[in-house]
Amino acid sequence: MLLYNTLTKQKEEFKSINPGKIGMYVCGPTVYDYIHIGNIRAYLNADTLRRYLEYIGYEVRLIKNITDVGHLTGDDINQGDSGEDKLAKKSLKEKKSPKEIAEFYEKYFKETEKEMNILPASYFPKATAHIEQMIKIINGLIKKGFAYEKNGNVFFDIEKFSQYGKLSGNTLENLKIGARLEEHPDKKNPWDFALWLKAPEKHLMRWESPWSVGYPGWHIECSAMSTEYLGETIDIHTGGEDNIFPHHEAEIAQTECYTGKKFVNYWIHVRHLLVNGEKMSKSKKNFYILGDIKEKGFNAMTLRLLLLSSHYRSNLNFTWKGMNQAKVNLQKISDFVLNLEIMAAQDLDIEISAKIPLDEFQKRFESAMNDDLNAPLALSVLYELINEVNKLTSAQRLPSKKSQEILSLWEKMNSVFGFKLNGQAEIPEEILELAKKRQHSRQEKKFQEADNFRKNIEEKGYLVEDTGTGFNIKKK
Ligand SMILES: [Zn+2]
Repeated sequence: MLLYNTLTKQKEEFKSINPGKIGMYVCGPTVYDYIHIGNIRAYLNADTLRRYLEYIGYEVRLIKNITDVGHLTGDDINQGDSGEDKLAKKSLKEKKSPKEIAEFYEKYFKETEKEMNILPASYFPKATAHIEQMIKIINGLIKKGFAYEKNGNVFFDIEKFSQYGKLSGNTLENLKIGARLEEHPDKKNPWDFALWLKAPEKHLMRWESPWSVGYPGWHIECSAMSTEYLGETIDIHTGGEDNIFPHHEAEIAQTECYTGKKFVNYWIHVRHLLVNGEKMSKSKKNFYILGDIKEKGFNAMTLRLLLLSSHYRSNLNFTWKGMNQAKVNLQKISDFVLNLEIMAAQDLDIEISAKIPLDEFQKRFESAMNDDLNAPLALSVLYELINEVNKLTSAQRLPSKKSQEILSLWEKMNSVFGFKLNGQAEIPEEILELAKKRQHSRQEKKFQEADNFRKNIEEKGYLVEDTGTGFNIKKK
């Protein structure tokens, strides 16, 4: 499998450190606000990668952290170490404790992931539960001369790490000329970044440390939690492209200087999601969370399909028109699966002459995914399969055995796409039975009896439709 590695700026053949096993770290949410559809895109891409790695036989240990301290409001203008703590700010605003804020938004995040059918991480470690590990790493960095303390604050000394900038291109020379850096009275150089900050009076979140009562810088938590749960060198680290600098660049500096080893073999970053061609922002009212999508009458799986329909390394432009198209496509997939399930359950023992090259479809699906997770191309292979099956079944029905074979190919593909289809496997046996009886009555031209079955099905909350291929059942 080829994966595009942000570190080397090219597609590389993927090799795991240990045979058959993968350690994967995903930068998780800062739990001070609802996760938006851009965040969902990043987590969904990590999910697709994990699902495909499992599809090709790896066992994946996936760690996704919960940032509940240290992420400051000035994360986009400098080294990410100025401004107020995002959680502390929110907790003052909402008059709740930082813990209450974190719990509330963590719950929302997990519910969103569940509805999106994103497989849960092996573990969701919290930053506040790993202060001890962070202190240990900071101590080690000071001892090795990569970090320095002044007035209770500790900073990473970028001049000591010659490889700084290898991920983002923001090398020391480039930082010196162009970056917007904020001076800090205790920093040797403005480009250094904080590992530990002394807590101002009344600061809500504070811990004892060898340097001061304070709180950790934002980046150190991911170094602490990834080494704690995955070891010193990990296979894959993912995030959104906005994480590349300063966050991931700082993670590399801290971890590699501390362990003396390479930190991450493959860095995978998802490009931005735009809404109507613009960056999402609350002030432009184009900032959407899953709840907004559902309010417009779409479900989470339609969003999943839309997000999978563009490659993770291209910008995705979210529009309602795009969602409508995704809805049509999802219905098409859903009808296809239901139709096959019904034919598979009906004991149809008929001869057909046409052949559907299922192996070839599977190979094409895999080669799309092997090429840097080309999910849109893999989806187009699925659509082709659907069209081919539909062409065939508009003239005749398929033997149950054949339907079963197509279904098992679908299930393999869907272990990667991850759609939970409405109607699929949710049509109760009783309803399916009534639909079969109705069809039988129709074939015997007992139309009154057939109509009674239809009414019975509708009373139970389902609709039955006749199609060229038999019948479809939908929830009302
Ligand atoms: Zn992180």
